[in-house]
This record gives sequence, structure tokens and C-alpha cells, in this order.
Amino acid sequence: MNSPKIYGLLGWPVGHSLSPSMHNAAFKALGINAQYQLFGVKPEELDFFLSSLSAKNISGLNITVPYKEQALKFAQLDKESFFLNKIKAINTMVFEDGIWKGFNTDIPGFSRHLREGFDPVNKKAAILGAGGAARAVAYVLANAKASLLQIYDIDKAKALNIVTMVKEIFPEINIEAVNSFQELDLLNKDLLVNATPIGLKSTDPLLVEEKFLHKNLFVYDLIYNPAKTKLLEAALQKGCRVSNGLGMLLYQGMLSFSHWTKCDAPEVLMRQALLEGLKQV
Ligand code: NAP
Repeated sequence: MNSPKIYGLLGWPVGHSLSPSMHNAAFKALGINAQYQLFGVKPEELDFFLSSLSAKNISGLNITVPYKEQALKFAQLDKESFFLNKIKAINTMVFEDGIWKGFNTDIPGFSRHLREGFDPVNKKAAILGAGGAARAVAYVLANAKASLLQIYDIDKAKALNIVTMVKEIFPEINIEAVNSFQELDLLNKDLLVNATPIGLKSTDPLLVEEKFLHKNLFVYDLIYNPAKTKLLEAALQKGCRVSNGLGMLLYQGMLSFSHWTKCDAPEVLMRQALLEGLKQV
């Protein structure tokens, strides 16, 4: 048998990830001779790693924190993905026709999952956090013609960066960076998205004062483990509709899988693998 094609998740640190369970289950089910591995690569080793992918027999990658921007310089973008030069984030690379191509599947992954519970068109939205994931969130909401987007990050420069990027693509969008959580004015918002890592740990504080949560607010937390963060618990108690980020993880993974294999991703099986993986964390 030929040696398996290698795929994997590049980040630092990569820590525990559910992606290997999801992708390896899918490769097995479809009879594809491939393995998905974790590649924890230190910042000082990144350039060498990315410039020697083919020599390492790697056929495709997912990219996570902190490399979604740096990976761009090693990948070519097709016409449809050219806007990623402005958003400055790719999370998927595939070796095709002798070149590395870059994609962002977080964007359609978040869009599909959000729309299962909430229609962002003409809605007012608040985003907490301005890292790589927030760029995908802001792009999706601007593309869906949300009527207002406000972003809060403890580092305002990062939030301003996203505002600039999004405005370059959607000049007419009403988007701003705010100075404090209170300025998000959640009582007048339809959607709150948590794109910070706050809530991953049981010791993390509740991100939002309960008095700002209301039953007309849809709360989407990108975190999926725990399935109910303190934010989602508090939101549910206030009668909000909520979602965690497991569906986004699944849908972005399915799209990456299709980029690599040119096969339809087996949704039911990949969802099952994620749920099984979560039980073991
Ligand atoms: P990131 O690049 O580290 O960005 C997080 C941002 O939030 C940083 O700018 C951080 O600032 C800021 N922040 C931290 N605490 C804050 C607070 N209390 N208030 C406001 N801003 C705060 O991480 P990321 O890649 O964007 O990921 C963010 C979260 O989304 C993570 O929990 C990740 O697991 C999740 N995620 C989920 C999916 C999915 O498929 N469901 C996909 C991608 C990411 P500092 O850097 O200054 O701390």
C-alpha cells in the first residue's frame, strides 16, 4: 500500500484539538488513505515548516492561532478568495497543480451555522474579540448586510484593524470599534458573538453583565467546549436564543475536507466523531 497522504492542523500551541477525530473518521469511512496530524510549530520554525511542506509529504493543512495571517504568504488565492488578502486570514491550505492554494472555511462555516438559528440581514450585531475568528465573523455579518456592527477588544487597535479591513471590502457598511463593553449597548442589539477565548476555562469570568442580556438577543459563542459557557448559561436564563461553535467547527472542517479530497464530506459521521471526541476531553 502507498504511504498515506498527510494532512494536519498547524498552530502554536495546538494543544488538544477535535479535528484529528473528525477528519480521520471521515478518511476511514470513505476509504481514503490519509492521516490527519497535529503540527505544533514554534514561531521561529514557521517559515521553514511552511516552505518544506511538499518535502514532508503534506498534502493539506488547517491553520489556527497564531498563523492564519502568516500562512497567506505561502499560499495562492483563487479569484473567489482574493478578498482574503484584505481579511488577512486563511485556515485551509491544499497542494494542487503544483502550488499551495489558500482558503478560509471559517467564513462559510460560521455563516451556515449562524443562519440555522439567526438571520443577520439588516440586524444590529456586537462582536467581542478582534482576533482571527472575529475577522471571519465580521466578514460574514458585513456580507449579509447587517445594519450595524460594533466590535470590542481589550486591544482597541485590533478592533480598529478589523474595521479598516471590512470597510475596504464593504465601503458602505456601518461598522465601528468601541472603547468598552458597555459601549456595545447590547440592549439595542439583535446579535452578540463571543469571539474571545473567555469562557474556555471554568475559572473564566462571565463576559457580559447579566443586565445587558435580553430575550431579543441571539447569543453565539464560538467556543464549543464547554458546550455551555457561562455566557450561554446566563443568556439562556434571560430567555435569549443561543448557539455554541460546534456547528461552525463541523462545517469549516467539512469544507476543508472537500478542498483536500474533492469528495463530499460525510456530515453525520464527522458530527458524531466530534461529539465522541468531546466526551473524551
Ligand atoms: P485570538 O486570535 O486569540 O483572538 C481573541 C481576541 O479576543 C484577542 O484579540 C484577545 O485579545 C481578545 N480578548 C481576550 N479577552 C477579551 C475580553 N475580555 N474582552 C474583549 N476581547 C478580549 O483567537 P481566535 O482564533 O480569534 O479565537 C477566538 C475564540 O474562537 C477561541 O475561543 C477559539 O477557540 C474560538 N474559535 C472557534 C472556532 C469554531 O470553529 N467554533 C473557530 C475559530 C475560533 P488579547 O490577544 O490581547 O488577549
